[in-house]
Amino acid sequence: MRKQSSRVFDLSEPGLVRISLLKYSAHRFVLFFTLHHIVIDEWSIDVLKQQLADSYLKLAAGRFLEISPETIQFSDYAHWERTTPIDKIQLDYWKDTLSGNLPILNLQTDSIRPARPSFKGKQQALPLDEKLSSDILNKSKQLGTTPFVFLLTVYYVLLYRYTGQSDILVGTPIANRSVKSLEKVLGFFINTVVLRSTVLTTSRFSDFIEVVKKNTLSAFSNKEVPFDVLVKELKVERSLAVSPFFQVMFLYHSATDTPSFGSDLRLIDEAEFDTEVSKFDLTLSISESNGLLSLAFEYDTDLFEAATISRFLAHYKMLLKGINANLTEQIGNLPMMSFEEEKVLLPVPTEKENYFKSYKAIHHIIADVTHQFPQNKALTFNDLFITYQELDEQANIIAHVILQKKKKRNEVVMLCMDRSIEMIVAMLAILKAGCAYLPMDPKYPMERLNFILEDADCNIVVTHSSLASVFDLTNKNIILVDKMEANKTMDVILPEVREDDLAYIIYTSGSTGQPKGVPITHRNIINSTAGRLDFYSENPSAFLLMSSISFDSSKAGIYWTLCTGGNLILTENRIEQDITRIEDLVQRHMVSHTLMLPTLYKVILEHGNLTKLESLSTVIVAGEACTRALGNLHFKNLPDTGLYNEYGPTEATVWCIAHKIEKTEDSDMVSIGKAVANAEVYLLNESKKLVPYGAVGEIYIGGPGVSKGYINRTDLTEKVFLNNPLKAGSNEKIYKTGDLGRYRNDGTVEFLGRVDHQVKVRGFRIELDEVEKNYIRI
Ligand code: AMP
Ligand code: MG
Repeated sequence: MRKQSSRVFDLSEPGLVRISLLKYSAHRFVLFFTLHHIVIDEWSIDVLKQQLADSYLKLAAGRFLEISPETIQFSDYAHWERTTPIDKIQLDYWKDTLSGNLPILNLQTDSIRPARPSFKGKQQALPLDEKLSSDILNKSKQLGTTPFVFLLTVYYVLLYRYTGQSDILVGTPIANRSVKSLEKVLGFFINTVVLRSTVLTTSRFSDFIEVVKKNTLSAFSNKEVPFDVLVKELKVERSLAVSPFFQVMFLYHSATDTPSFGSDLRLIDEAEFDTEVSKFDLTLSISESNGLLSLAFEYDTDLFEAATISRFLAHYKMLLKGINANLTEQIGNLPMMSFEEEKVLLPVPTEKENYFKSYKAIHHIIADVTHQFPQNKALTFNDLFITYQELDEQANIIAHVILQKKKKRNEVVMLCMDRSIEMIVAMLAILKAGCAYLPMDPKYPMERLNFILEDADCNIVVTHSSLASVFDLTNKNIILVDKMEANKTMDVILPEVREDDLAYIIYTSGSTGQPKGVPITHRNIINSTAGRLDFYSENPSAFLLMSSISFDSSKAGIYWTLCTGGNLILTENRIEQDITRIEDLVQRHMVSHTLMLPTLYKVILEHGNLTKLESLSTVIVAGEACTRALGNLHFKNLPDTGLYNEYGPTEATVWCIAHKIEKTEDSDMVSIGKAVANAEVYLLNESKKLVPYGAVGEIYIGGPGVSKGYINRTDLTEKVFLNNPLKAGSNEKIYKTGDLGRYRNDGTVEFLGRVDHQVKVRGFRIELDEVEKNYIRI
């Protein structure tokens, strides 16, 4: 039977029906039919079964068979269809309905889609109990719709909740036997109809079903345009990998009475014999028999694993239950997961070793390192370097001057310097003085600089005499680091610092047209740095700092290195334009660790002199999505160097999700990994509900790395720093990142882009709205 059913039909040859009689024993036989779908449809199969039963019973009773062929045959119908012109009004309906960009359903698959589908498939069923079945059938009556429309609506909800896509297209086969004389004719009278609906998270189910009902009725009343004509007329982009218009199907059928063959013969339905074929990615077919509903998915085994399909079935059933309980619930709020499943998705508090638990301030850690390794190289720039002891002494001198000008706790001090050893010394000095530093790129436009000075209420600026003129027109206290009396014996008494005092502020692009300040406390940055000692197996002996200190990504290298006694190698501005210099620095200073944008790392690997990079044990890419191609390129060139993908917005302090990329991985996209540094990661839908495994959600971050909110922007802060909706009654905040992601089967998170118009340009986070608003102002 398996052999007969899996043998490929040659459509150019006759013989699209195969029948075998198999003998089990003297009195036990099986009559097995295999028919190509192109010659028979579901309806015809029922007709055929009835004819077979009638004939069999007659013959068994010893009666004579009179067979009168139908007066109309399928070939007549085919002729009629070929010669009848396409209904223009119907065609226009489809041109209108299927206009615009047709989305490809972004359903997560377990394997990479092959260039050509093999159509291998399987089926998985889930029968519903009597109570739920009758409840659903009653509810659809109550809403004045058919079970088809009701169950299709739930399918839209399922697909929407998985993909986050609101424009969803589903295919469904429809019988095109519009005249009575075709009723008994065997053949393929099916046309495929595309059902397109827009799902909104805030629509009530009972309202949305009205929309689906209307769309379905109009689609069905325009069902005569053959599918292949539509494909040609609408000029859809054809690809061998995905089917045109839709990737998923929906079927609903009520079982007809099985004809009787008498007492010694049983009819085995086609549903009981899995042909192991799937014509589409996924087909949900729901059958009703004697008031019982049964769900079944036919799925492409090149794309999906059985476990994923079991989840689809369970989630569909949960949705049915939720809808049954409350027809007016909003689509985004409908329950979809069991309690146990939700528990798996919640962050588990792991009591990891917090290496810096006893510290209240980040510079206290550096002070202890200084005691331990006073003669270690701390900072290196070009041919110059200073030791930890020198760093400490020089920072104290500047701190002393700052302390004289400091007026209040948490005083904000702007740090505006070109890249140099003094820049980091001054940074440490500001921290020592119990102030928060506000790094400012000296090349920023005056307007932006003035805005930030005022916004952050900043009255002290630490800079270099070469840049002093920038501040001529401001009334700020200017401290010039190169014009300072060196007095090494001076004993400075440093102020006490608390964990929730500010360490620094970083300004990022804002959609209102002005940048917004993210304040980071000592607790935030201590936690972020301690997480590195947990996650990475080696601390940096020499870290090549590529990014500007006004980016939060620079904090990874600065504090990880200075809190563990390594050598921080500073680079000149725009070093990314000179790959040879980067390699020379790596070789000369035996750089063990570095962090950069994936795009820059790609250039280094493609054009670089790889033998100079041999000292690298750890390369971190961050700030933008890392492609698989980059991963492959890395392992080809530097197989002994670890490659890591770090993800994190400034608002959650440098990093919160990270992944060690392995050579053996083969998914399309490199994962961003799992939570690090005590971060709590939540993937939520627009209604702030957890999304299931595999579904697209927005990434929200909680935990000790999260900043307390933007400076002077209560409205914006309230929009994106939310009370954790999953911890009722607690005042813990989670940050809404605006990034989309989903869980892969291995439990890591995949990054899927933005929900808004934020982009990255050479690592700069830019809200396109800010550009637009400023442009309009000019
Ligand atoms: P920033 O605040 O400058 O660190 O920028 C944070 C944003 O950069 C995130 O919200 C993401 O959109 C993007 N981003 C950061 N790291 C990654 C990464 N590893 N993969 C993809 N996007 C990233
Ligand atoms: Mg970042």
